[in-house]
Amino acid sequence: MKVTEYFEKANGKTLISFEILPPLKGGGMQDIFATLDPLMEFKPPFIDVTYHREEFLYKRRDSGYYEKVAIRKRPGTVGICAAIMHRYGVDAVPHLICGGFTEEDTENALIDLNFLEIKNVLALRGDARAFESKFVPEDGGHHYALDLIKQIQRMNKGKYLDKNIENGVKTDFCIGIAGYPEKHFEAPNMDIDLEYTKMKVDAGADYIVTQMFFNNDAYFNYVDKCRAAGINVPIVPGLKPLTKKYQLASIPRHFFIDLPDTLAREVANAKSAESRRQVGIEWCIEQSKELKAKGAPCLHYYTMGDAATIRKIVEAVY
Ligand code: FAD
Repeated sequence: MKVTEYFEKANGKTLISFEILPPLKGGGMQDIFATLDPLMEFKPPFIDVTYHREEFLYKRRDSGYYEKVAIRKRPGTVGICAAIMHRYGVDAVPHLICGGFTEEDTENALIDLNFLEIKNVLALRGDARAFESKFVPEDGGHHYALDLIKQIQRMNKGKYLDKNIENGVKTDFCIGIAGYPEKHFEAPNMDIDLEYTKMKVDAGADYIVTQMFFNNDAYFNYVDKCRAAGINVPIVPGLKPLTKKYQLASIPRHFFIDLPDTLAREVANAKSAESRRQVGIEWCIEQSKELKAKGAPCLHYYTMGDAATIRKIVEAVY
C-alpha cells in the first residue's frame, strides 16, 4: 500500500515508522532483523531503508603509490526491502538518490522496485562525497531531487527513456521527499528552500519526511511555513535520540541543526554513559508525546541500529 494511503486510513491517528541503514559490507540480514524484531510489535505500516552511494578510498600499494578505489560500504537497499516485506508483511520504502545514478540506472532501479511490488520511494539528491566540496551528479544523471521526481512521474505515466517503448507499463509509485525544519544547509534562506520544496510537490511528491530536530517548535514552524507556501502534503517528523557525548558536536556538524541549550547541557553534564542515554531517551519521549498530541501524521524514528533505545521511547509513547 502507498504511504499516503496509510495516512488516509489512519484517520488522524499518529502512525509510527522506522528507518534502518543497510549493514556494512560483510554484515548480514541478521543485523537488520536484530534491529527490527523488537520493534515490530508497535505495528509500523512501513519501514524506510536508506541508500548509500560509493565513496573513494586511497589504498597504498606495495610500490608506494596510492590507488583510488571505489567502495560501497552499505550496498543492498533493494534486497533488504524485499526481505523486510517478506519477513514482516509490511511495506518497505527504499531511498533512491541522484548521486551515482545515470537516468538509465534510475529507470532500471525503478523497474526492479516495480517488479517487487514496492509502492513507495523516498526521492533524494544525496550528499556530496567526502572528497568533494559540492554535490556532483553522475554524467547523464540528475542534479536535484526535483528531476528524479519528474522521472518517476513519467514512469507512472508509462513513459520510459526509450521513446520506442509504446504502451509501457505504468508504475504507481508514491513519492516521499526530504524536508528541513532548520533549512537545507545549501539553501540561501528558508523561503528559497521552501520554493524548491513546493516545486517538488507540484512535480508529484506526495509527502515529506523531515530531517531530525530536537526542538519541536522547529517542526511546528516549518509546517506553518509550508502551509503558507501552499505545500499541503503530509509532513512526517523525523526523530532521533541524542544519547552520546560526541553527538553534541557530530549532529550539528553533519546535519546542520541546533541542539537546544537544556538538552546540550544535560547531556554534557551527565555523570555516566547510561545517565546520558537516559537524558536523550527522556527528551525524545517528550518530543514524541507532544508531536503525537498535536496530530503529526506519523513519527518516523531513525533507528541507527539501536533497537533498545528506540523501543524504550516508543513504549512510553504508544
Ligand atoms: P534537493 O531537493 O535536490 O535540494 C538540495 C539543495 O538544492 C537544497 O539546498 C535546495 O534548496 C536546493 N534546490 C532544490 N531544488 C533546486 C533546483 N531545482 N534548483 C536549484 N536549487 C535547488 N542521503 C543519502 O545519501 N541517502 C539516504 O538514504 C538519505 N536519506 C535521507 C532521508 C531524510 C528523511 C532526509 C531528511 C535526508 C536524507 N538524506 C539521504 C540526505 C539528503 O540526500 C541530503 O540532505 C541532500 O543534501 C539533499 O537532498 P534533497 O533530496 O533534499 O535535495
